[in-house]
Amino acid sequence: MLNPLKLFQPTSVQEASQALVEFGAKANLYAGGAELLLLLRNGLIDAEILIDVKKIERLRRLDSLDGTLHVGACLTHHELATNAPIRERAPSFAYAESQLANIRVRNQGTLGGNLAFNDPHSDPGTILLVHNASVTIGNAKGERRLALGDFFLDMYATALEAGELLLEVEIPSLPAGMTSAYKRLHRYQRPTLGVAAAARIAGGIVADARLAVGCIGPKAQRLTELEGKVKGVPLTDTTRIFAEQKKYLRDVLHPVDDLLGSVEYKLYMTGMMLGDALAEAAGERRPED
Ligand SMILES: Cc1cc2nc3c(=O)[nH]c(=O)nc-3n(C[C@H](O)[C@H](O)[C@H](O)COP(=O)(O)OP(=O)(O)OC[C@H]3O[C@@H](n4cnc5c(N)ncnc54)[C@H](O)[C@@H]3O)c2cc1C
Repeated sequence: MLNPLKLFQPTSVQEASQALVEFGAKANLYAGGAELLLLLRNGLIDAEILIDVKKIERLRRLDSLDGTLHVGACLTHHELATNAPIRERAPSFAYAESQLANIRVRNQGTLGGNLAFNDPHSDPGTILLVHNASVTIGNAKGERRLALGDFFLDMYATALEAGELLLEVEIPSLPAGMTSAYKRLHRYQRPTLGVAAAARIAGGIVADARLAVGCIGPKAQRLTELEGKVKGVPLTDTTRIFAEQKKYLRDVLHPVDDLLGSVEYKLYMTGMMLGDALAEAAGERRPED
């Protein structure tokens, strides 16, 4: 049973931010509640007041400006998975949203709640890193913008400071000629491994590549050094290169042995799925698919 909670429903970022400062540790921001209600029910957090951010119009907007999608933090996973401009401009992000959890969580949970909570076993952050996405954060005094990679600090930790809200996520289109893929491995609803790739292939050679991996370490990460290693290489050689990168992947991703698998298994699957994701992004199908 939950203790009785007071619900505060601000209609502006200023109001919400002031409430966060005023109520302090007694209050929590509340969007879909998919994570928050579990935390409260299990006694992992203790809040008396929920600040419901869903009535703030700024957080419900979805615009497209100069090739960049501006996605309000309170858009739900289902809204994003089924939105026509998103499916057209960022199809692998829409796909990742469509695979997340189940229809109940996708209807309830928001992108902002997902990124702000920064559970390591999450889908959207990994593919958004490949888009070079950024986030806008705000409080009663103003707004600031930072790269998504800088927003994710560590597991369950972000660059949000006291009194700040995540307002929107900016998702630039991929450069011309570059296409993407997102692949996930899961035994339960939450992913065990998420891999995103984007590639531009010219004459069978990888002319440009972006790679990101999530879930097996504390936070989703771009693999910029590995991107450099596959540039200029025939696409057919990339799976071998990924399989040889276990030390690099271990150093960057910091996987741990747990109930979802050993470090060895996670690194092996990461190499395999990077190869699959890059081939899928390049429009190739692999024999085992
Ligand atoms: C059964 C289950 C399966 C799941 N499976 C997956 C999965 O496969 N892949 C995946 O990626 N995720 C998965 N999730 C996580 C799910 O995506 C998130 O629970 C959901 O997106 C969180 O959004 P919310 O709006 O419900 O956040 P809430 O629960 O409302 O909030 C989560 C946290 O974020 C904070 N917060 C919310 N909005 C903001 C904001 N605008 N600014 C700052 N802080 C904010 C809250 O204070 C809270 O700390 C799963 C969750 C469940 C319960």
